[in-house]
Amino acid sequence: MSLDATLERKLLWSHDEGYERARRAAVWNGRKPDRRPAGIVLAEDAADVAAAVRLAEERGLRVSVRAGGHSYSAAGVREGALLVDVSRLRDIGIDTRTRTAVVGPGVHGGDLDRALEPHGLFFPTGHCPTVAVGGFLLGGGLGWNWRSYGPGCVLVQAVDVVTADGRLVRADASHNRDLYWAARGAGPGFFGVVTAFHLRVQPRPAVIKATLHAYPLAVRGELLHWLHGIRHEIAPVTDQACYVTQEANHSPDAPTALSLAIVFADSERAADEALAPFADCPVGAEAIWRRDGVAVQNVRDLPNDLYPEGHRYAQDNIMSSSPAAELVPALDGALLSLPTPRSHLNLMNLAGTPELPDMAFSLLGETLIELYSVWEDPARDAEMQAWVTGHARRLDPVAMGSQLSGESMASRGFGPEAFFSAAALSRLDVLRGHWDPDGRFVSFLL
Ligand SMILES: Cc1cc2nc3c(=O)[nH]c(=O)nc-3n(C[C@H](O)[C@H](O)[C@H](O)COP(=O)(O)OP(=O)(O)OC[C@H]3O[C@@H](n4cnc5c(N)ncnc54)[C@H](O)[C@@H]3O)c2cc1C
Repeated sequence: MSLDATLERKLLWSHDEGYERARRAAVWNGRKPDRRPAGIVLAEDAADVAAAVRLAEERGLRVSVRAGGHSYSAAGVREGALLVDVSRLRDIGIDTRTRTAVVGPGVHGGDLDRALEPHGLFFPTGHCPTVAVGGFLLGGGLGWNWRSYGPGCVLVQAVDVVTADGRLVRADASHNRDLYWAARGAGPGFFGVVTAFHLRVQPRPAVIKATLHAYPLAVRGELLHWLHGIRHEIAPVTDQACYVTQEANHSPDAPTALSLAIVFADSERAADEALAPFADCPVGAEAIWRRDGVAVQNVRDLPNDLYPEGHRYAQDNIMSSSPAAELVPALDGALLSLPTPRSHLNLMNLAGTPELPDMAFSLLGETLIELYSVWEDPARDAEMQAWVTGHARRLDPVAMGSQLSGESMASRGFGPEAFFSAAALSRLDVLRGHWDPDGRFVSFLL
């Protein structure tokens, strides 16, 4: 049987009915790229993925992949490529005895959490429940409880991969070790299609508690210096961030700095101890409102209206390990010019995360600074992108790299160097030459 026939009903060429719907659905962002893949394969299992890769070889097409479609750069949608859509690969198998889970790349983080919860298990999924594990884990993935685990990909113990020659192989610490190394952090630079992730799942924390204090932007200098000063002392079980936005606050005319800490603890007492330092913030008297030590049954249920679907988004980020005296003033330009009420800056504390094992994900600073513009009117696309790109560039003097999960290489005009250690990037290039000698997979969107 021909490959086209094997994939019948799952293959859409660009002239087919349903193609444009599938092309647009491949991207979560309300802002869709103009790029048009030659065809789209709506894969349902690993056999479809293998058939798609062989079809691409037969037709001389390159291959791109999408899982949950959350890439801000829409890296999966590529001009003239065959797009392998793995969003329907959504099986979840949990083995409570070995504390492992085998998870399809299209599984959303929220669905994985929902499946693990009845077994008292946990995985550090992305903060937005619709982010799929596919792109999240390939790019590293800083999810819930990031300061305890570091990137989620450290908990990947094996991957099933369709390689450029259309074979389905297992890669782990003993088989195809270099492919396993690359699958933990190469992101859109990966040279294969992951059809399943084998995850080391964790005991579910007994207590999850959060504290949220809101401050007027006028006190940002004092607040950010204080938070920076205590970044290493904050207990590793605490996810700590400062989120600056005009939305979600009680002063609609001006942005607010939301200081947020979520603790994943073994007991109430440990949770309260971890949250105690935030009550001592010297800027406390200025707080507009505060919530101390609120129990959060499931982090996936935290209000998620900061990223409403259908809106248009531009994102860029830098990681910094600079001292507060350099970092805090450098943020002012962006903090004082947020272009829409929903636009925001997010400063995540990465200090004290565990040392990274040897894998493609190889760069982690002390603070991750994410810049987001969020808008609805397509006429503002260029202006909103320019705000993000311009302010990310202005932060270059305090940057030691960027995080691949939020990559915007094409709009910032740089290559993958900012996302990997030099040694990891050069190993990745060598491995790509070995596993994908004909350049079947599209790699980074530059
Ligand atoms: C609202 C929102 C919230 C987010 N929150 C977080 C967060 O908390 N932490 C974090 O680290 N990141 C976060 N991100 C970034 C997100 O992790 C990345 O964009 C990630 O790539 C999304 O995965 P995806 O499968 O949904 O996206 P996709 O766009 O489908 O995938 C991105 C790229 O990954 C590759 N890829 C995906 N699946 C496969 C596969 N099976 N085989 C081979 N290659 C594949 C492709 O190159 C693809 O272009 C968030 C993004 C959004 C939009």
